Amino acid sequence: MSQRLVVLGGGESGVGAAILGLKKGYEVFLSDAGALSDKYRDVLLHHEILFEEGKHTSHNILNADIVVKSPGIPDHVALVVALKEKGIPVISEIEWGARFYEGTLVAITGSNGKTTTTLLTHHLIQKSGREVILGGNIGDSFALQVAQEDVPDLAILEVSSFQLDGIETFKPHIAILLNITPDHLDRYDYKMENYVHSKFRITENQNESDYLIYNQDDPEITSYLKQHPTQAQLLPFSLTEKPEGEGAWIENKEIIINNTNSEITMSIQKLALQGKHNIYNSMAAGVAGKILELRKEIIRESLSDFQNVEHRLEYVTSVCGVRYINDSKATNINSTWYALESMDAPTVWIVGGVDKGNDYSMLDELVADKVKAIVCLGEDNRKIHNAFAGIVDHIVDASSMHEAVMMAYKISEKGNSVLLSPACASFDLFENYEERGRLFKEAVRGL
Ligand code: ADP
Repeated sequence: MSQRLVVLGGGESGVGAAILGLKKGYEVFLSDAGALSDKYRDVLLHHEILFEEGKHTSHNILNADIVVKSPGIPDHVALVVALKEKGIPVISEIEWGARFYEGTLVAITGSNGKTTTTLLTHHLIQKSGREVILGGNIGDSFALQVAQEDVPDLAILEVSSFQLDGIETFKPHIAILLNITPDHLDRYDYKMENYVHSKFRITENQNESDYLIYNQDDPEITSYLKQHPTQAQLLPFSLTEKPEGEGAWIENKEIIINNTNSEITMSIQKLALQGKHNIYNSMAAGVAGKILELRKEIIRESLSDFQNVEHRLEYVTSVCGVRYINDSKATNINSTWYALESMDAPTVWIVGGVDKGNDYSMLDELVADKVKAIVCLGEDNRKIHNAFAGIVDHIVDASSMHEAVMMAYKISEKGNSVLLSPACASFDLFENYEERGRLFKEAVRGL
């Protein structure tokens, strides 16, 4: 008799997991407590996969042999607790896909920079002419791609901590750990150590023939590694200190990527992605490219001609000599720190939204140095006022993106920059960060 796979959540990853299950001979049932989008409902009907929406029916779920859970469903909900009590394995879609994947896995995680570094690494590999899967938090479901014919033998996956929470055997040949700063702590009992542990699961199944590329300047990472050594070969990258052995570092305004005693050097100025945070991202992608034995020329070229991803420190346009920059994807303090850090002109900063427990004092110095005025854009801006009242004279409130941009336009002068880098989630005033960024760009282009 075939095994029963239950998939919880009918989004991109859930529907992909269901199709892979079907292809591998499982009896599949998908359950979503909300409404499915028309697109995914049609796909399930087309494949004749049984499903329910608007509810989770326990008796159809608790009889599973294995459950693939969407990363959006927290572990503490009653249904997941009941599954675990019954000893039914509850895994994530990357774990499920990887069980049927025979190629080489490159997995990228971190609190910030995952999407940028994943796309950059993907770009490097594509330029070398090699076929590669792009998946995880990005694009098409990994499981769905594994279910296809002629699967490429290399996969680059952007993985979140929620996906890592649902792994058992997931074993990337190359793991990249970009940084760990507080985020999503509501899902980790508000304990940073739980979140750090979750991120480090990326290396838990690696062995001596695998690689961990990590940020040596990140104290959370280095202190955890000291206490919990991994079996993988370590390839650190740093902006401040040449690592012992191999890895990536800076010398005379050049990045140096060193692995197996061969080096790539490249001027920082030539990197397509500017800003300190992007030097880290470029180093990490470059080291991965080196391990994959891409030609030096290809790595250099790709790091210099990559097209930046929308909503990440994206230059929109200049109006009356003022540069407008869309960093709508900055939904936490750390990402906004790097945005402010990269500003080289007096800046009107548009900030605010749903704060996930921000400690704004970490920005004090940069704000004092770079920000001439603040436009608050959130339902409740009191915390931002309190945090910066003594540092910035000019703080105003806006209730829509259009109003925020108009205010910034009036305050700014030739030679200034206007930066949208909210340090907050978007769902008080917007559908998501993409809509927030889009409305910003529309308003700027309408000036
Ligand atoms: P993620 O997928 O982890 O959310 P993104 O690449 O989408 O990361 O970038 C999210 C935000 O973080 C953007 O504002 C971006 O400019 C900023 N960012 C990108 N890379 C880094 C990094 N290495 N460290 C800190 N912030 C970063």
